[in-house]
Formats: sequence, structure tokens, C-alpha cells
Amino acid sequence: LMIHSLYSNQEIFLRELISNASDAIDKLRFAALADASLLEGQGDFQIQVDVDKEAGTVTLSDNGIGMNRDEVIENLGTIAKSGTAAFLENLTGDQQKDSQLIGQFGVGFYSAFIVAERVEVHTRKAGESASEGVLWESHGEAEFSIEASPKETRGTTITLYLKKDCEEFADDWRVRSVIKKYSDHISVPVMMAKPPAPPAEGEEPEENPAVEHEAINAATALWTRSRTQVSDDEYREFYKHVSHDFEDPLTWSHNKVEGKLEYTSLLYLPKKAPFDMWNRDMNRGVKLYVQRTFIMDDAEQFLPTYLRFVKGVVDSNDLSLNVSREILQ
Ligand code: ADP
Repeated sequence: LMIHSLYSNQEIFLRELISNASDAIDKLRFAALADASLLEGQGDFQIQVDVDKEAGTVTLSDNGIGMNRDEVIENLGTIAKSGTAAFLENLTGDQQKDSQLIGQFGVGFYSAFIVAERVEVHTRKAGESASEGVLWESHGEAEFSIEASPKETRGTTITLYLKKDCEEFADDWRVRSVIKKYSDHISVPVMMAKPPAPPAEGEEPEENPAVEHEAINAATALWTRSRTQVSDDEYREFYKHVSHDFEDPLTWSHNKVEGKLEYTSLLYLPKKAPFDMWNRDMNRGVKLYVQRTFIMDDAEQFLPTYLRFVKGVVDSNDLSLNVSREILQ
């Protein structure tokens, strides 16, 4: 039902999967503050996107926190998890409206099935041995398979076997332009293979040229840039990333505050009241970063309860990086 309701907005699957990869990297960055061995000596975070036209696949790899077997089943396998049920109940049949619901309900991963007939997830949790790798596979129906499958590198690799009529997403330029559009503000580099340089005149093209990768997004935390360097479109995309709202924000306020405590805040007001607005226990919308490292979601100390619909980030350079929640409060 979901796949069909979002059919007119196919390209959003890339935004959702890159957003998940970036969250997984944020989670590992944070966990590694307490236990640096989780990085396994590899602290260069990145997301890599590869397309294969002949095979009709697009693959997204991240070196974030990864998942163990139980987490894969819990996060990807439980179609009846509450978010999905709530999403289905809220479908209106109006594609434009429904496409705005998807992020709010934590069903972003399933958007892969808008374009893929089969999805494979190969993942291994940071800090565990290669033999703990897990391979999950599904055709987007009620069933999935899961088996042990060793993985040397930590993190998650998702391969989408595209439907016949969605093969445009195995095209390098198409994918690049979608990533540019939605993911420029993501603070880790999103890498794609550089197109091979044309052979110099009179030379034969190389048989197996070495493939180099290049970052195709700006990969700087958007709020650290000065206001004049950020376009309104970038502000709007960033809002969608932090809020999981598919609509533009009503307005925003971006401030660098200097004084006893220095911090940067970028706060947004949504255009429409969120669906769980009247629930006093709903997640608060402000994320805390310290020196651009994600510390916590849902920071409840920053705003009074009645402002729980405000979304955004607060980043301070003046808190110690190993700050615990208790100290912070
Ligand atoms: P949401 O991201 O809104 O929670 P999703 O359906 O997109 O909902 O993802 C479900 C869960 O699966 C995530 O919360 C996360 O725990 C896990 N997950 C998804 N993608 C990844 C990934 N690339 N690496 C690690 N965990 C992931």
C-alpha cells in the first residue's frame, strides 16, 4: 500500500536511505566517544553510492554503527511495528499528502521498495567480529530471509535490485542530481565513482581503469556556515532532514550566540502542527551537537514543553565532548 501511495515521488528513497546512513554514522561517532575501539582504527566516515547499469542495481554503503541480527529483525523485519501501522492508518489516498507522512512514522527504509523489487541488506555492528555479519533480504512482501554472512568492514550495505521501470536510478547522473538535491547538507561525504576520463587523443581507452571516488555533497554541517552562505533551499532541505517533515518549514532562525557559553542554534517552526501535537510526551524536536558531534536527539532541557513542535539543532563548543546526559542536565 505504501509503495503504491508514493509512486509519483520515487526519488525520495535516496533521501531516506542516505538519511538513515547519516544517522547510523552519528550514532557511531557518539558511541565512540566512550569506546574508541568501536572505530576499529577507521575514523573516516563516509557514505558510498554505487550504480551498476548492467545489473540494474544501486548500492548504498555506510561505515556507521551497523546492526546485529536482533536489531535487523527488530528494525527492518517487523512490518507490523507501530510506526508502520500508524502510517497505514493515516494514508489518505492523496499521493502528495501521503508522501509527507512517510518520514514521520519511521518507515523510511521501506521506501526502498518504491523502486526495488528486491532489497539486500548486509550489515555488521561496529566492534563485533566479521563473522557476526548478517544478510537480510526481502521482496517487500510479508516475508524476509536472514542468514549469517561475514562482513569485514563495519556498517551497512544496502543493494536495491531495481524494478524494470525504475532503471533510471542505475544511471550515474540521475542519482547524482537527486543526491545533490536532497543531501547536500548531510555532514558526511556522500561518495560516488568519478566518471572515467576520456582517453587522450590517439590512445586506447584503458581496459580496467582504477575507479576513484569523489564527494558529491558539500559535507559541512550546515549550521556552522554563516547565514549568508546558506540558501533558503538548503535551509529547507535541512529542515526536512532533522524533522522528517516532507513540507517546507514556516520559518527558521539561525543564530550564533557568544558570551559565557558559546553556541549556535538553528530552530524551525513547522508549517502544520505535527500529527501528535497534543501528546505531551511526543519527542521534543531539538538535537544537541557538541563540536559538530551528535550527542542526543530530543533534548528536553532546551525548550519548555509547550514549544515541543520546534525542530532544529543546538551546537556548543563549550561542553566537554564526553558529556553525559546527567552532567548536561
Ligand atoms: P527511522 O529511521 O525513522 O527510525 P526507518 O524505517 O528508516 O525508520 O529505519 C528503521 C531503523 O532501522 C532505524 O531507526 C535504524 O535503527 C535502523 N537502520 C536503518 N538504516 C540503517 C543503517 N544504514 N545503519 C544502521 N541502522 C539502520
